[in-house]
Amino acid sequence: MNMAGNDRVKGENIIAQARGFGADIAGIARVADLKDSPSHWFSEIMPDFEGVGTHPSDRKKRGIVQWPKGAKSAIVIGVGHPRSQPEIDWWIDSSGKGNTPGNQRLMDVIGKLADWLEHKTDIRCFKLPYNIEKGGIYLKDAAVLAGLGCIGMNNLVITPQYGPRQRIRVMLVNAELPSTGSMDFDPCTGCEMPCHKVCPQQAFNHPVYSQAAYGRETLPGRTGVYDRFRCNEQMLIDEANVEAMDSDKKEGVVQRVKYCRRCEMACPVGNGS
Ligand code: SF4
Ligand code: SF4
Repeated sequence: MNMAGNDRVKGENIIAQARGFGADIAGIARVADLKDSPSHWFSEIMPDFEGVGTHPSDRKKRGIVQWPKGAKSAIVIGVGHPRSQPEIDWWIDSSGKGNTPGNQRLMDVIGKLADWLEHKTDIRCFKLPYNIEKGGIYLKDAAVLAGLGCIGMNNLVITPQYGPRQRIRVMLVNAELPSTGSMDFDPCTGCEMPCHKVCPQQAFNHPVYSQAAYGRETLPGRTGVYDRFRCNEQMLIDEANVEAMDSDKKEGVVQRVKYCRRCEMACPVGNGS
């Protein structure tokens, strides 16, 4: 580890290396910008939420990010989840890390990138878990600020390459790196919004958040119509329809859940993915 190494390892090298380790897309955001991003301020004022994917918390409220001391930049990576490979999004209840094959790949890339950076430089890496309650941050905001895409009307990150069909992971570092974002990209304006029409729970049919109540223009689902309680209802249905499958890791039979992705699959952006 050495300072000369820091000088040689520029942001573009880090992104190229992330791709070399298996990321499909990658970018960099500033932590100072992330702290002021929509999900981070929204989490302070919106009602507490407990549902699929949340964890117990000893804090007063779930969803509040605990930033690692000294973190200055976020390296954001994404892995495409194309329609032709639904299995990489299946949730596998097994003893392996990551649960979905896509998440395993993301964790693998982050691990290799952290090892490479810490070997080449004296930059310190903070590998983050997915859940906020366990130390994560809001990934969609990070992806947007890193210039990977925009937030779509389906409340998901939309990228030119994959539409909403990718998954994101973030690693923080204690070095100031130049941001690669944001991107001038908005495929939703003028779209007939098949993502809304296809939802089995009508999770986009009614206003849930308003500019008047929250004092912000940027709201979940862009216009404030995304209802995460309704989406959670579908996730519970999906979990009840759990299937048994043979594991290829000598674990015998494991359980898999195919969570709803209708609002992803209906989006025409990134067609071909
Ligand atoms: S279907 Fe249309 S409105 Fe919905 S996320 Fe895709 S581009 Fe945006
Ligand atoms: S994941 Fe399914 S239930 Fe949830 S908002 Fe999208 S279409 Fe609706």
